[in-house]
Amino acid sequence: MFTTAFLDLPPLEEAAGTVTLPGSKSISNRVLLLAALSAGKTVVHDLLDSDDTRVMLDALRALGCSVVHRDASIEITGIQGHVIPAQAGTQGAAKRLFLGNAGTAMRPLTAALALLGGDFELSGVARMHERPIGDLVDALRQLGCRIDYLGTEGYPPLKIHPATALKLDAPISVRGDVSSQFLTALLMALPLASHSAPTPGTNVSGLPPEGAAPPRGGPSAGHDIVIEVVGDLISKPYIEITLKMLERFGIAVRRDGWQRFTIPAGSRYVSPGEIHVEADASSASYFIALGAIAARPGAPIRIEGVGADSIQGDIRFVEAAQQMGAQVTSGPNWLEVTRGAWPLKAIDLDCNHIPDAAMTLAVMALYGDGPSTLRNIASWRVKETDRLAAMATELRKLGAEVEEGADFLRVTPPADWHAASIHTYDDHRVAMCFALAAFNRRGAHVRIEDPKCVAKTFPDFFEVLFSVSRTDAPHIPVVCVDGPTASGKGTLASEVAHRLGYHYLDSGALYRITGLAATRAGLALDEAHEHTIAKMAETLPIVFTGGRVLLAEADVTDAIRTEEAGMNASRVSALPAVRTALVALQQGFRKLPGLVADGRDMGTVIFPDATLKVYLTASAAQRAERRYKQLISKGISATLPGLRADLEARDARDSNRTVAPLKPAQDALLLDNSSQTVEESVAQVLRWWEEKQPFSE
Ligand code: C5P
Repeated sequence: MFTTAFLDLPPLEEAAGTVTLPGSKSISNRVLLLAALSAGKTVVHDLLDSDDTRVMLDALRALGCSVVHRDASIEITGIQGHVIPAQAGTQGAAKRLFLGNAGTAMRPLTAALALLGGDFELSGVARMHERPIGDLVDALRQLGCRIDYLGTEGYPPLKIHPATALKLDAPISVRGDVSSQFLTALLMALPLASHSAPTPGTNVSGLPPEGAAPPRGGPSAGHDIVIEVVGDLISKPYIEITLKMLERFGIAVRRDGWQRFTIPAGSRYVSPGEIHVEADASSASYFIALGAIAARPGAPIRIEGVGADSIQGDIRFVEAAQQMGAQVTSGPNWLEVTRGAWPLKAIDLDCNHIPDAAMTLAVMALYGDGPSTLRNIASWRVKETDRLAAMATELRKLGAEVEEGADFLRVTPPADWHAASIHTYDDHRVAMCFALAAFNRRGAHVRIEDPKCVAKTFPDFFEVLFSVSRTDAPHIPVVCVDGPTASGKGTLASEVAHRLGYHYLDSGALYRITGLAATRAGLALDEAHEHTIAKMAETLPIVFTGGRVLLAEADVTDAIRTEEAGMNASRVSALPAVRTALVALQQGFRKLPGLVADGRDMGTVIFPDATLKVYLTASAAQRAERRYKQLISKGISATLPGLRADLEARDARDSNRTVAPLKPAQDALLLDNSSQTVEESVAQVLRWWEEKQPFSE
């Protein structure tokens, strides 16, 4: 996952290959709650591992569920409709649950906890406290649930008290035109009350309140519970998912159109034992769009984990993409997408049935042959952010003309693409859909701010995107940090790589490994063995993994860091054939999204076209001092004068050799870090990097 402040996407050319998508967020959180409310164990396979599911799992643990991770699966032992008493909040000491920005946890948990009994406080991040919940609370209050607002009326945070009397004989009405999650929450939680008698004074588990006589008919009498939807129900496909999942857990809800839902008396959650979570169809939308925009001729984008028979409403994004020109074939658990019409065909579409995936259409519209209109998307305003405003603002930055209506968006493709830094509003879908703008082929760079927000549903989104994306090497940004030994290049370069989310090449390590391998093979490091050593260098079995360096599977991380190994590296690096042998290997590190490379000739020989070249120096006295401290801290004895003499000898050899002598590239920026902290030099290089960027913001 990219945890950087921003991620710069260079212009991308085309895409091909297979992606396996993470599990659906909507299905994952429904399955978790239903498993928790059932008796016994449920083994959940392919569960999405993301912020939202983590929030839900934490909440379930707090309620007394056992949650055990086994390989790729999770085993949930349910609480069968009873909060474990020791875990339940006691009067005055409410159990506090923090639910982040997960609507799929906040809404259903509010309903379930209001019916389960116990005192709870539910809160989330600031944005969660701006997302409405009043209609759900109103519905639950009609039933006799006791819920207070702790902040603004109608919004979380909430305080939930045990319900004392439930009124189940009249239909419960809930608004369906703000968020379908309110209805989902009621549908998932109300079976808890379906075996209560309709007598006032009965609590949800069908048991009499303390000190009261048992209700007539006993706990098993039960009562059909009817929910009536007020207003037009939006996002119906999500209700379909809810009904299908309830069915898997033994609850057969009867439905009259989309207006009336009946939970039969005596409904009980029955675990299916094992359940597989489908891959997320909304996440698939980015790769379906990718195929339509950029699939390499003859090489489709293949998506594994979800197919045309998916139970998720967003799978109908496929039809919208086809309307715009995508060629899609599919099987039970896969999709393949290639390009069809180009430019894409503009559309005018009611998107109420695919609210989340429709954001992807808004970015596809940038590649249309005219203005596209996405209608009936007012629900965008109450999602992770006000998505209508967010999409309009960010699409405009790229040069599109955008009309933002109360419930529609009209996007006219840019006449001229602009480089843009995309603000992502802590909204995973904004981040993911705008990544597709990097395929504009007009050279416009796209920066995605706060890329880690994708963790909500797809933590590895960018890694997966890069694994199937291709661009010409010259487009892939490179930062070079060259300089003499012990100037602090490695520390600086690896930190800059970390801040930019780029790959890192320590080219010195390649010479050190070559020197070590040659010495171990008993070769003298001189001209006489130049070609033998070069041959060796070409096929070195090197693996860089987790900060360690492996040579033929043996860990040589420490062996290549000794002073002697440094001297040997300097010797082999003066042999022209060895340098040539290592060129391709070094250039192979230039991969998406970018590279920071340190060495002696990164800017002069290996990456002469690098975006930014830094030549790092420090006085010989400073460098000797740093090396001295480094060695002493490792328990290696050394003397300052000896180190300084070695250092100057290496500088002299590196600077005077005939091939690729150590010298600043003509266009390198000089940085003398003698009196700088590491953080100061990192900040300086990042400032230079910013100056090279085309973003106006
Ligand atoms: O940077 P480091 O001290 O690990 O490099 C070891 C030696 O490898 C250097 O002294 C230099 O002689 C050689 N080298 C080089 N070109 C590079 C990187 C290192 O010649 N790009």
